[in-house]
Amino acid sequence: MRIGAIEAGGTKFVCGVGNEEGIIEDRVSFPTEKPEITLANVINYFRDKQVEAIGIGSFGPIDLDRSSATYGHVTTTPKPGWTGYPFLGTLKEAFDVPFGWDTDVNAAAFGEATWGAARGLDSCVYYTIGTGVGVGVYAEGKMVHGLVHPEGGHILTRRHPEDEYAGTCPYHGDCLEGMAAGPSLEKRWGIKGSELGVDHPAWKIEAFYIGQAVAGTILLLSPKKVILGGGVMHQEQLFPLIREEVKRNLNGYVSAAAILEDIDSYIVPPGLGDNAGLCGSLALGLDALRNK
Ligand code: ADP
Ligand code: ZN
Repeated sequence: MRIGAIEAGGTKFVCGVGNEEGIIEDRVSFPTEKPEITLANVINYFRDKQVEAIGIGSFGPIDLDRSSATYGHVTTTPKPGWTGYPFLGTLKEAFDVPFGWDTDVNAAAFGEATWGAARGLDSCVYYTIGTGVGVGVYAEGKMVHGLVHPEGGHILTRRHPEDEYAGTCPYHGDCLEGMAAGPSLEKRWGIKGSELGVDHPAWKIEAFYIGQAVAGTILLLSPKKVILGGGVMHQEQLFPLIREEVKRNLNGYVSAAAILEDIDSYIVPPGLGDNAGLCGSLALGLDALRNK
């Protein structure tokens, strides 16, 4: 099988071709420009690839409601030209194949449930902590959409008692993204997150916010696996700190062995590594082909 995958990010697009085993056989990447230019690049890439379906995991917010006139559009974004642009429709006109369409983080959760750290499980939550914070939700064997789609990156947080940083979110100031995304690390400490030493106090504060959010997610959704990805999570020392924060916040209330006895294999990095996003889009494409 040859399935197309598009990981549509606000900074860059990654396109690839893979198979039903989740193996990516070819890929390209280009910066996200105006939609006319970017989608022309996408169409050019897939033109001679003979894919049987295409999956798109997109930055958002996006319209996932099939009965809506704006289904397949990015709805509100500061990226020039993308708001209201018929992203999915433009590609459907170019290729007569089934399309999968979901948020980048729902796609990553689905990819992890298909081939990665949550393989064989019917639920997981995927966090990306990068330029922004996004949360994908896979529950009872389906990606959760609800009213629009989950926006767990913007949940409100309780402040760390020693943190006076105002937060970077233009909507909420000190929401999770405002306090814990890569740019907020950089603004709070004056240097890039990747340059902060592993023993820097930044990581305890970072884990305080992420751990708090993960504890809330566990209480709300009861996922069978929590997967933490994105650039900031390359800081491996965060994992034990976050697990500790989750345990501290839950305080023994959720009586699950996965949390009480084996949290190291419950809160984990993506099994697919930095391929989680692209493999997720591949899984969406495969799903679209199977359900066509
Ligand atoms: P995006 O979210 O744009 O898809 P990434 O997941 O790579 O991309 O996230 C980029 C953000 O993560 C930037 O703010 C960057 O400073 C931060 N970042 C990337 N690598 C690291 C690292 N090793 N340690 C800490 N922060 C990092
Ligand atoms: Zn916010």
